[in-house]
Amino acid sequence: MTPAVCIQNVHKVYNNTAVVNDLTLVIQPGEIFGLLGPNGAGKSTTIRMLTTLTQPTQGQVIVAGYDVVKQPLRVKQQIGVVLQQTSVDMDLSVWENMEFHGRMHHIPDTDRQKEIDRWLDYVELGDRRKELVKTLSGGMKRRLQIARALLHQPQILFLDEPTVGLDPQTRRRLWEIIKGLNQQGMTILLTTHYMEEVEYLCDRIGIMDSGKLIALGTLQELRQSRGEGLVMKQKGDLQDGQAERWDYQFFPTMADAKAYLDQQPDKTGMMTRPSNLEDIFVDLTGRNLD
Ligand code: ADP
Repeated sequence: MTPAVCIQNVHKVYNNTAVVNDLTLVIQPGEIFGLLGPNGAGKSTTIRMLTTLTQPTQGQVIVAGYDVVKQPLRVKQQIGVVLQQTSVDMDLSVWENMEFHGRMHHIPDTDRQKEIDRWLDYVELGDRRKELVKTLSGGMKRRLQIARALLHQPQILFLDEPTVGLDPQTRRRLWEIIKGLNQQGMTILLTTHYMEEVEYLCDRIGIMDSGKLIALGTLQELRQSRGEGLVMKQKGDLQDGQAERWDYQFFPTMADAKAYLDQQPDKTGMMTRPSNLEDIFVDLTGRNLD
């Protein structure tokens, strides 16, 4: 099977600095892949290369079987893109935004109207079609961006921080939309800062830092490789009943973590719990997710 995305030894250099540094990554059709990393890690630059918006300085990027440098038009036909900066046109109506995008992609008249209806209904904006985009909520605008990105029937959807700035309820609704698309066979690559988003949506996770891929696998694989059990030790004084700081120690399993705790003569301020993605992220990058 042709991989959905194949990135091989890719570098992107800005001002003599490799902001993406020897990245190799393969994503299979049907996966939801989450790219995580602190600010400046190179996630957006990677998405920009995958979506033909910028070219790699070195290395090869193949999307849906096409080379992003040699066959950018072919790539564009196969992908839907929702980036932070590609916003919808505020002074047009919901339908006009879809219509404009459909014409840009040369979707024939009859199909176009059918597809516009289909995707607006899918993201539950069918009854808002005549409204100006500037009157929509943030969550509705994001849903419109997604509907628009799907209009030309792409195989792969790229979502750059799709739920940033949205309230938890709206975020959940978008997760259901994203999951539903994946169940229909769509490959999805998303970047995010939200751990729950990755845990809920992603089949596999890649963690980037300083332009490099520093971890790759399923959540379970990442937990296994770093340690599934944690012993936490409170540091400093309690403030309002909360510890000021915790020291973390990873153990291969929860049983190992508990055994370690049991051996301690003084267990004051110590506890065990299963490790989660945020623990691993902080351990690997030295930074918090948001
Ligand atoms: P992330 O999405 O992980 O926050 P980015 O890919 O946006 O990271 O940025 C990675 C690094 O590349 C940052 O240091 C950023 O300042 C730099 N960078 C991104 N785009 C450009 C550009 N067009 N020109 C120069 N530097 C850039």
